[in-house]
Amino acid sequence: MQKLFSGVKKLFLYNTLTRKKEEFKPIKTSPQPSPYKGEGDLVGLYTCGPTVYNYAHIGNLRTYLFEDILKRALLYNGYKVKHVMNITDVGHLTGDRDMGEDKLEAGAKREGKTAKEIAEFYTIAFKDDLKKLNIKQDDIVWLKATETIPEQIEMAKILEKKGYTYRISDGLYFDTSKFKDYNKLSHLKLDELKEGARVEKNEEKRNPTDFALWKFSPKGVKRQQEWDSPWGVGFPGWHLECSVMSMKGLGEQLDIHCGGVDHINVHHTNEIAQSEAATGKKFFNYWLHGAFLNIAGGKKMAKSAENFLTLENAFIKKNINPLAFRFAALQVHYRKPMEYSEEIMRNADIGLKHLYNQVRELGKTPGAIIKSIQRQFIEAINDDLNIPKSLAVIQELLKSKLSNSNKLATVLDFDKILGLNLRTVGAIHELPIPERIKKLIDARQKARKEKNYKESDRIRSEIENKGYIVEDTENGQRVYKKSV
Ligand code: AMP
Ligand code: ZN
Repeated sequence: MQKLFSGVKKLFLYNTLTRKKEEFKPIKTSPQPSPYKGEGDLVGLYTCGPTVYNYAHIGNLRTYLFEDILKRALLYNGYKVKHVMNITDVGHLTGDRDMGEDKLEAGAKREGKTAKEIAEFYTIAFKDDLKKLNIKQDDIVWLKATETIPEQIEMAKILEKKGYTYRISDGLYFDTSKFKDYNKLSHLKLDELKEGARVEKNEEKRNPTDFALWKFSPKGVKRQQEWDSPWGVGFPGWHLECSVMSMKGLGEQLDIHCGGVDHINVHHTNEIAQSEAATGKKFFNYWLHGAFLNIAGGKKMAKSAENFLTLENAFIKKNINPLAFRFAALQVHYRKPMEYSEEIMRNADIGLKHLYNQVRELGKTPGAIIKSIQRQFIEAINDDLNIPKSLAVIQELLKSKLSNSNKLATVLDFDKILGLNLRTVGAIHELPIPERIKKLIDARQKARKEKNYKESDRIRSEIENKGYIVEDTENGQRVYKKSV
């Protein structure tokens, strides 16, 4: 591995499996085939992706932001990362367990389109949201559930052969009582897990926690998406999809698997059970989970609830920079719940503008990275991604008496993890101001000289509506393009 930070505390991550912060050590063997083969320490990262039947809500996006920060922190530490994310385009049921309607088929009905059209539309919308939040996606290997059906059938066949499955009237199920350590991720007593699973009333199941590997298409119903299998025509279970896609994408490089905390007790618990039962090997070594985004006094944001906000509704339509959401999320540790309110986001927007101004004041020419500050920064990051602490390091840096050019170099280096586009702030300042804006600036100057503040405020709004920001400084007006 690249010795970027020799002598600095190693990367520690909180592992849900052990409920401890552990030093992160990747499995060294490269997956076959891998674009990074032979290129030093490689990390295999799997993040549970979206079910593409609707827009992502900003709660979902908080989780993708946390995963982006994790990936950037791994890269900053000198690792190569192979990042696989699935697109769930079949098999995720409205009940989240094995009951209810397929979310994709329900979405298709709702919008009068085909399930495939729905999946394509919301996949594009999802990637667009990632882009607006500056979440790195050029290096993501995307895998679709509908494109890995043969592999899913194969895994269910292995499990059947090994005696882990049984058939009932609506599908092929995994018998959780046959897998010892079924509760190793949740750390709950089996009774508690069973209690949670009882919400679903399927009298035919042997144990409440058993889950479907393959579900049959309902009798007399032709689903839009269904496949033939040794057990009958139907579709795969949601948990099976993620097990298969993570192994298909990462091979043996099963280092880190992430998702939101709601996935611990069911989805990820079931993924571990079926994967380890099938391969006889340990599934992922590190399981990281992001806490919820809550709304209005601690209520989880969810698509099933009325409180579902998209990036478009909560930010773009309200003229708040979507990166303000990123900035707000950076201020709360990923394992702590985050509160959404419009006021919090507007304050984050102001805070981000302030930071942009601070960086702009540093000029345009980066000097040298200040190693002692960089050390403090990376030590905060390597302590289970303590971004709030790293932001405090940045404020100390900006207040210090160090040279502007060195401050600039250092803060731009930190932005490799923060992803706030601080680099473009300087560039924006350099952009030529168009003639029509220059005329307005002159008119405002004149109005100010004449102490006609009503007129100068009116011109300021006009300039802002045209996408520029005016600041009154000791040296007169300063104008730059809005940074969205
Ligand atoms: P889904 O599309 O429902 O599979 O969810 C996508 C990701 O968002 C998963 O990792 C979930 O755990 C996560 N998630 C769902 N609701 C929230 C929330 N309110 N806050 C943070 N993450 C969430
Ligand atoms: Zn998953």
